Amino acid sequence: MATILIYTTTWCGHCERAKALLDAKGLAYEEIDLDDDPAFRATLLERTGRWTVPQILVDGRPIGGYTELWCLERAGRHSAGILWRFDERAEERVEQEGQHQERRDQARGAARAQQPRERAAAVLEVAAHGDTKATVVTKQGLRLDLRVVPPEDYGSLLQHFTGSKDHNVALREEAQRRGLSVSEYGVTAVETGEVHRFESEAELYRFLGYTFIPPELRENGGELRAARDGGLPALVEPGDLVGELHCHSTWSSDGKGSIEEMAREAKRRGYRFLALTDHSHYLREGRMEAQWEEIAAVNERMKPFRVLRGVEANIRADGSVDVAEEVLAELDWVVASLHAAFDRSPTERILAAIDHPHVDCIGHLTGRKLNKRPGADIDVERVVARAAETGTALEINSQPDRLDLRDVHARLAAEAGVLVPVNTDAHSTRALGYRDLGVAQARRGWLTKENVLNTRPWREIAKLRA
Ligand SMILES: [Zn+2]
Ligand SMILES: [Zn+2]
Repeated sequence: MATILIYTTTWCGHCERAKALLDAKGLAYEEIDLDDDPAFRATLLERTGRWTVPQILVDGRPIGGYTELWCLERAGRHSAGILWRFDERAEERVEQEGQHQERRDQARGAARAQQPRERAAAVLEVAAHGDTKATVVTKQGLRLDLRVVPPEDYGSLLQHFTGSKDHNVALREEAQRRGLSVSEYGVTAVETGEVHRFESEAELYRFLGYTFIPPELRENGGELRAARDGGLPALVEPGDLVGELHCHSTWSSDGKGSIEEMAREAKRRGYRFLALTDHSHYLREGRMEAQWEEIAAVNERMKPFRVLRGVEANIRADGSVDVAEEVLAELDWVVASLHAAFDRSPTERILAAIDHPHVDCIGHLTGRKLNKRPGADIDVERVVARAAETGTALEINSQPDRLDLRDVHARLAAEAGVLVPVNTDAHSTRALGYRDLGVAQARRGWLTKENVLNTRPWREIAKLRA
């Protein structure tokens, strides 16, 4: 019987096509939805060891969050239709059906890759293929490595290709000292030649004397020692977040959702509050006050859900923020961000904003845009120290092309006692889903629920800012 697990997200329609295909073929499957099922992560974690798609490599590196790939979100879309752990028969049947599908996902791409002449529509090039392996390049430029292994070797394979390289090298070296050789096929006792095979990563780590190391921590950044001593942090989970502290509505010209639409979507996602932080320059000449009226009306309709009066103020070249003091004093939540002149003393400007009594949080610290522009050259240690001193939050901005703070800086901030909200900076209802990218970033930075500000109810956050 085929065991097929579909990992779906609201980002794409691959899953719908995959389901239709499976239904038509009478294949059994189980559906897990990233957005709606609160048990999703537990289930997927249990089944696959993670809630991302690590056995797929993008440009030779695993998707799943060890590096700050701008293509995470795009990769997420591409992985959405992948059929997990399909057995040979299912693969065969999927492959046959694949010819009739309008768009093919990578699972079918893989199956089809073995017949290069009839390759799947999403696949631009089959770089290599064999009985159990294929490498394909999609039209979007993603390079995907696909492997088929028996279930009893799945853990070893997954661990091996999940990386990072530094982590695996350190892991192998430690094992070697104890006469064990670790590879993608299992762990071999060098002396006897006995091979131990592992269906799950957890079993592999346990065998080597570690607690399970979440993939996000596998960077050889102290995680092996911590896992041996039982000192790994309990990383923040997407479900721990209860509110949003940086997002935009149609009051910003680039916003696509009304205040109420943003609030309803946040509520649907299980949030209890949302700080609306439209750009300050769209809220001049009475528009701020008009927005407050709309917020009040939405709050009336949506009780007990709470929309907070916020703003994303711009940090000017001289370090001041572009919203009047008396307005700032009326706001529930003030984000201050650099948006221009990144080369003009960015550290000093950020420090000045942190010192501002009404600024609660610094938005997207460096202002980087992945694959487009490097961030401002910020002295992060000084910024973190001052933020800790003043109780100013430093957000992780979850936009796929930002992911700013970067992981090492988030870790630095948390270690210094800075509270780090994970914010989406959503300009549309859909973009509230970027949360998971930000949470992945937070996890790479070793952040726990405690370290992440918006895991707290609003009244606690309000108390902290008082
Ligand atoms: Zn911004
Ligand atoms: Zn913003």
